Amino acid sequence: MSSIVYPPDYHTHTELCHHASGMPVDYAEFAELKGLEEIACTDHAPAPWKYDPEHRMVSPQFVRYRDGVLKAQATGKCRVLYGIEADYYDGCEPYLARWLPEQSFDLVLGSVHTGDFWKFDARREYPDPFIKNLWRVYFTQLQKLVRTGLYDVIAHFDLPKRSGIGITDAILREIVIPTLDAVAQAGMGIEINTSGLHHPAGETYPSPQILSWACERSIPITFGSDAHSPDRVGNDFETAMQLAREAGYTHSARYRQRQRTLEPF
Ligand SMILES: [Zn+2]
Ligand SMILES: [Zn+2]
Repeated sequence: MSSIVYPPDYHTHTELCHHASGMPVDYAEFAELKGLEEIACTDHAPAPWKYDPEHRMVSPQFVRYRDGVLKAQATGKCRVLYGIEADYYDGCEPYLARWLPEQSFDLVLGSVHTGDFWKFDARREYPDPFIKNLWRVYFTQLQKLVRTGLYDVIAHFDLPKRSGIGITDAILREIVIPTLDAVAQAGMGIEINTSGLHHPAGETYPSPQILSWACERSIPITFGSDAHSPDRVGNDFETAMQLAREAGYTHSARYRQRQRTLEPF
């Protein structure tokens, strides 16, 4: 990459989650090559009760994850933060409320991955009430996530669009704006996640429209590639920086030990 100063990439995965490749040291190496000064490892957190085991490390592997991050930090390549992406799902709270503070994370991403929106087929027509219901269910979960106070940054905020199904502006406003108000009130951040550019959605999570509503509410942002392979770290950050500026942002959030500061980008 060139002499541009990139914001940190605060969303990356590792081979421990069974659907990504590379370990933190590999991400650090590619990040350095691409001119990123800082990344966060944020692999999918282990979960008890067999919640979605195909997409996450099991608890006994967690020590390998932690050691992998420590090893990457010791390379002296770019700065590597110790983070995690923790799913919100019904019943997760007692476990996460105990487990998260036991770790010395720099950053905790909160996400909702549950919902029927994965099965959408962009070639089909869906009635508005059907789409509205799916969005409502997802954003109800997201609001519950916010209310737990357990997370720092919301990952891929408008994930239900993943399969490329559009929703009307009226539905968007009705469902998304109260959620953004809750995020602002909770003092949480949201990320600009560039992986959506490569999904049928064809745009970042969140959309430029939602990003500007977030900016109006002074919700801090981070940047995340959601890389599931080391070569994708920092992917499309020029595009994301441009979108953030157009939405009105001049600063992005940095985290250390779950404390936030804002830096210009
Ligand atoms: Zn993943
Ligand atoms: Zn995710």
